[in-house]
Amino acid sequence: MDPSKWIDVTSESFKYSLDHFVIPSHYQKDVSSILIPHGIIMDRIEKLAKLIVEDSKGPLVICCVLKGGHQFFADLVNEIKKCNTVLGQSVPLSLEFIKVRSYHNDVSTGTVSISLTDEECQDWKNKNLLIVEDIIDTGNTMVKLLHKLQEFQPASVRVASLLLKKTPKSNGYVPNYVGFAIPDEFVVGYALDYNEYFRDLDHICIISEHGKEAYAI
Ligand code: 5GP
Repeated sequence: MDPSKWIDVTSESFKYSLDHFVIPSHYQKDVSSILIPHGIIMDRIEKLAKLIVEDSKGPLVICCVLKGGHQFFADLVNEIKKCNTVLGQSVPLSLEFIKVRSYHNDVSTGTVSISLTDEECQDWKNKNLLIVEDIIDTGNTMVKLLHKLQEFQPASVRVASLLLKKTPKSNGYVPNYVGFAIPDEFVVGYALDYNEYFRDLDHICIISEHGKEAYAI
């Protein structure tokens, strides 16, 4: 995606005070600011769905990258379904799930484990895949996943990531669809976790030092 088409929230002015929105009291000390309020996430997904449908020539196999991508996947699929029903578009969908792990606390382990069996993926031959991911940080996970998917000979593979982190550690990978470019900080909420916590927070927030310590393993 051309950088002019995504929303850049890397400047300090995008950090909302915790007083401006409602967050669960059990996370009050664990996040330092709200980066993307839930309502803006939902409005942006409506637009991404429209772009995806406009670019789709036929049936789509939408693959959710678990666990962090599940909320974005669910909301994006709902919006694509609305394009089919309300806007009269016709993009038949099938849904698949891929589990990927690479992080310990807020640090990439460098090794990426991808749970995919040949049996599960044999139907992907000659299909158009849309991979739905929560965040691209270094880009290593996505590059490894895309390499693995080529084994199954899909007709095409496109990637939608809600977030793209602006970091010097990036390998340069840029997805086909990006919701927001975010600063080089560890974010949680909207199903993005820190050691399985914060998935129950609706807004995308920046974790605080208190939060990192409270939930470290
Ligand atoms: P990458 O391989 O691009 O460095 O990292 C991709 C994966 O790392 C994401 O799918 C996500 O699970 C995790 N990750 C990277 N940055 C963040 C972050 O800021 N917050 C959370 N919660 N997960 C992240």
